[in-house]
Amino acid sequence: MNFSRQRECILDYLKNTTAHPTAEEIYQNLKSELPNLSLATVYRNCNKLAEVGVINRLDTGGKTHFDADVSDHQHFVCNLCGKVYDMFFSLPKDVIDTNTPKGFKHENHRLYFFGVCKNCK
Ligand SMILES: [Zn+2]
Ligand SMILES: [Zn+2]
Repeated sequence: MNFSRQRECILDYLKNTTAHPTAEEIYQNLKSELPNLSLATVYRNCNKLAEVGVINRLDTGGKTHFDADVSDHQHFVCNLCGKVYDMFFSLPKDVIDTNTPKGFKHENHRLYFFGVCKNCK
């Protein structure tokens, strides 16, 4: 069992879920399949994958979630259960352009909507 195999399994798991799991959730789901896996290893691999842009790290103000869908989309965070849901829309380019401070160069953005999800309502 080497690190790259663990990283592959973590990435596979993330690619097959839309649940935006935390490192703890990834660990809980993979530890039976990867007996040598530790929570620290999950953190390290997820951060590495996020660093190179293969996945996104979502800091929602509470926990850190990971998302293998790196397309341009936003997120809705439930204030009660903490789950993160996808919202597929893009900010219009002119909204970005007119609101970017003069002389600044916009590179990317991440919007979080907070509220109560369907399951908690
Ligand atoms: Zn909820
Ligand atoms: Zn997402």
